[in-house]
Amino acid sequence: MGIGIMGGTFNPIHFGHLRAAEEVAESLQLKEVIFIPAAKPPHKSEVGLVSFDHRWHMMELATAGNPLFVLSDLEDQRPGISYSVETLTQLAQDRGGSEELYFVLGLDAFLELPTWKSYRELFSLCHFVVVARPGFSPESLATMLNTQVSDSYSFDLQVQGYHHPSLNTVYYREVTLLDISSSTIRQLLAEGSTVRYLLPKKVEEYIQQHKLYQQL
Ligand code: ATP
Ligand code: MG
Repeated sequence: MGIGIMGGTFNPIHFGHLRAAEEVAESLQLKEVIFIPAAKPPHKSEVGLVSFDHRWHMMELATAGNPLFVLSDLEDQRPGISYSVETLTQLAQDRGGSEELYFVLGLDAFLELPTWKSYRELFSLCHFVVVARPGFSPESLATMLNTQVSDSYSFDLQVQGYHHPSLNTVYYREVTLLDISSSTIRQLLAEGSTVRYLLPKKVEEYIQQHKLYQQL
């Protein structure tokens, strides 16, 4: 049984993240999904980014009660910018190489991969599970793989993933499409609009209590 890794800013965590992780865990029979919030995300400006502690607390509230979901503060423990290649390398070492790692990413994030530090290394470190996201066509996944990583990928219908002779598999999962994003949630909050049913009730209450995201 493998281990899922879900990275992101989680500013804040919402049902799009949670449902995708749940469906991937079931589909690939993962024994756990580790959520790893980025301390200093390389691709995002600091504007509108609430503290690591706030994001962490909201994630605790959101994942409590799901025995499959685990949080890791690995990226907060390392100084400097949070690069996935370093996180995955560390996780692979910690786990003694005995467990298969499945890096879960939305299709939007996966398409941005070529801008990430040493992104090619990731394809030997872990499997990928790319999940559907509204507005992104599944064909773009194959195009990206073939042009930016290697033209030796071939789609295997049975596993719903792209195999490669020497690199790890890139799975694609057509999860329930939820058109929810943290940026939309932040926008709604700044306007004073309701965010009910977009994220867990306890997270919504935490945001209100701490007066987060009152302006963009
Ligand atoms: P922002 O709008 O600030 O970028 P976000 O909603 O995209 O926030 P992130 O923290 O950037 O959330 O995303 C973490 C990971 O979760 C990424 O791989 C992203 O593609 C994925 N993800 C986010 N929202 C969804 C969703 N609604 N459905 C599927 N995957 C999602
Ligand atoms: Mg995003």
